[in-house]
Amino acid sequence: MSNTWVVATQPAIGSLLELGRARGGDVIVVAVGDAAAKAGGGDRVIRVEVAAGTPLEAVAPVVAAHVDPQPGDVVLTGSGSADRAIAGAVAARHGLPVARGVNHVATDEVRVPRYGGIAEETVSLEKAILLVVDAHGETEGEAAAGEPAEGDGYAATISGIDPGTSQQANLPAARRIVACGRGFKAESELQLASDLAVSIGAELACSRPLAEGSGWFPRDRYIGVSGSRVAPDIYLAVGISGQVQHTVGMKDSRVVVAINSDPQAPIFTQADYGIVGDLHEVLPALTAALGR
Ligand SMILES: Cc1cc2nc3c(=O)[nH]c(=O)nc-3n(C[C@H](O)[C@H](O)[C@H](O)COP(=O)(O)OP(=O)(O)OC[C@H]3O[C@@H](n4cnc5c(N)ncnc54)[C@H](O)[C@@H]3O)c2cc1C
Repeated sequence: MSNTWVVATQPAIGSLLELGRARGGDVIVVAVGDAAAKAGGGDRVIRVEVAAGTPLEAVAPVVAAHVDPQPGDVVLTGSGSADRAIAGAVAARHGLPVARGVNHVATDEVRVPRYGGIAEETVSLEKAILLVVDAHGETEGEAAAGEPAEGDGYAATISGIDPGTSQQANLPAARRIVACGRGFKAESELQLASDLAVSIGAELACSRPLAEGSGWFPRDRYIGVSGSRVAPDIYLAVGISGQVQHTVGMKDSRVVVAINSDPQAPIFTQADYGIVGDLHEVLPALTAALGR
């Protein structure tokens, strides 16, 4: 029987536990730091303590030493920056292949998106594999005390914290998203989207060019094959053409509303509701109509 290892750096790992449960076998949670130790739901819990003033990433070698993937096991981690750093150490120590954006995890196979999400490769789990998956969702049940992990991490301390100017996003957990694309021609125009997002209680997100090209958004705000994957109740795509590299990240949204001045824009083929129009006119009208 193959098992699932869940490396957690925060308590909202419901989506990871669900994937592990669906595979059968045991779900072994490696909880890194105090926050992650609050997550319930594992069959076995290993606790990795993180001393005050130490970054989570510093205990990566301790985590790697306590994850013990056997052939056929799956190691799941979230996609936050600390998760990814620790995932690298786990994969390197055990020689695991790494995949991200995986949609389907079964007992003996996983399906990995290829070519920007337009195809999927089925990989059978003869060996162990590490999957980086968006972690979200509360866990059920009491958190177990867990077995303490022994070992030393790197001698790193946090010498200062610069919180930056933007709030960190947890887009996979968002129920409403207003996503902006290159239809916005100046950074100042984003205020129109921000006003709508505030009025309907939505998170702001974007297509990749607005994060990696113009730098108007931090990188954790873009949606797509190389960004976040989301499944909100409502996804408003504003000035986004709808290339597959973007839509693969939002296709699981319950209701998609597209706003685009080009009636031929491919995003309309993904949309439940389409508004053909100039975002400069449509957004203020929507904000006025939907605002609380
Ligand atoms: C390897 C690889 C990975 C990639 N990964 C991602 C990814 O993860 N996420 C991602 O988003 N992209 C990704 N891309 C880029 C992707 O291919 C597209 O280039 C990108 O998604 C286009 O962004 P956009 O829709 O904002 O811009 P555009 O394609 O330029 O579309 C802008 C849209 O705005 C509309 N518009 C213009 N003016 C207005 C107006 N006034 N009012 C209303 N609408 C207007 C236009 O009609 C157009 O449809 C990737 C590309 C590669 C090669």
